[in-house]
Amino acid sequence: MTDRPTIIRNASWAVVWDASVGRHVYRRDVDIRMNGGSIAAIEPKGTTPAAPGERAIDASGHLVMPGLINIHSHPTTEPAYRGVREDHGVPEHQMTGLFERLQAYRLDDTGRRAAAQLAYSEMLRCGTTTAMDLTGNFEGWFETMAASGMRWYVAPAFASARWGMSAPQTVTWTWDVAGGTRGFQSAQGVIAAADSHPSGRLRGVVFPAQIDTVTPELLREAASYAAETGHLFTTHISQAVVEVREIIRRHGVTSLRFASDLGLLRPGTILAHCILLDDHPQVRAHTRSDLDILAASGAAVAHCPQPFARYGVAMNHVGRYIARGVPLGFGTDCAPHNVVEEMRLAIIAGRIMSEDIHSVDTAAVFHAATAGGAKALGRDDIGRLAAGAKADIVLADLSHPAMAPARDPLRSFVFHAADRAVRTVLVDGSVALKDGKPVGLDPEGAVAELVEAQQRMLLDAPKYDYAKRHGDTITPMSLPIV
Ligand SMILES: [Zn+2]
Repeated sequence: MTDRPTIIRNASWAVVWDASVGRHVYRRDVDIRMNGGSIAAIEPKGTTPAAPGERAIDASGHLVMPGLINIHSHPTTEPAYRGVREDHGVPEHQMTGLFERLQAYRLDDTGRRAAAQLAYSEMLRCGTTTAMDLTGNFEGWFETMAASGMRWYVAPAFASARWGMSAPQTVTWTWDVAGGTRGFQSAQGVIAAADSHPSGRLRGVVFPAQIDTVTPELLREAASYAAETGHLFTTHISQAVVEVREIIRRHGVTSLRFASDLGLLRPGTILAHCILLDDHPQVRAHTRSDLDILAASGAAVAHCPQPFARYGVAMNHVGRYIARGVPLGFGTDCAPHNVVEEMRLAIIAGRIMSEDIHSVDTAAVFHAATAGGAKALGRDDIGRLAAGAKADIVLADLSHPAMAPARDPLRSFVFHAADRAVRTVLVDGSVALKDGKPVGLDPEGAVAELVEAQQRMLLDAPKYDYAKRHGDTITPMSLPIV
């Protein structure tokens, strides 16, 4: 990617970082000078006269803001669930469809490469500049990440057990402890390859897949490896009542306390999703101390409200986590990979759960989607517009009908326009989205491949499903076809 402007001129509105108070503030009518991949200065417009050879982006009529950070996503599988997952759940599993889907549906590598093209495009279109991709490794993964122009945290999954079901009311764990150890060794190779990728925009993450599918020994070993080698550590935890009950059955404590007892909770750890803590109405454990443990630990939470809200569950409540000082960023655990929609839903679900409009607001979710995500990743050079920070910058069109009247541009963006207003995205100073189109990706070209791969996934479901059902039986159409 060679299109690297040197200055953004005449930004009508800008969301810039005020280091003295540690928060974003609005500024009007500014220029942003860039030097290589970083921001050199933010100054009143016209301060620096146009220089010969200057490559300028005209931001008049635009909101300029920091790129969004997505700290949890599965872009290489979730797009294949479009039309499949939205209304799916298993009532016997407190409504989540997680266990049934993961047993029955498997997307092949062709489908995953196509899914990545679509999902990475969705991310760029809503203004995402940094994301964490959690998946099993496959051929073509790094190339697609690099082609997007985005900054990536690369999290290859490993586990000692695989979920299964033998009946609607059961979840089973099939253990392969040696396989888990081999998976961890293989993940270390992927992490090293990410760290040394020539793009310089990939960084490995240690990712034991779920708190309930990895042995305590391997969880501890993986966390030590992450700490010793300076890598982030992430896992799924407190994401299903079934999981929390199983950990209580095995170890006598909730998932969160179990992770704490193992020494997994510290700065540098990102926990997805931490919804079902001990005082959540669906868990109602007697301890009522999980949030205290979490808040004291420095571990961050990747908040992905959408998949939970779809089956009727919400964090209890997001404003409380923020008020307790839990570092919180956003992720997209399902398609669409639109962090702005997650921000909006977090506000709405947070207010429903708290019955308090002031518990969470636009400023709080924008902070989480930018500086909060950066903090979770252990960085202060992204998620903000400030001299010295990376030039990861988003331009949104204030004249888009869904933005107008843009009295308060962030409210227009979060509650109304979202990705529709995003026109230009810079990552590391280079243009990754131009006129609303990803520069290095081909989502249109990937559509046909993903359509076919989804059909194969649905057709193959009887091989893996406990009742040998076709995909159309597990997840029927929303309307009958007559
Ligand atoms: Zn996830």
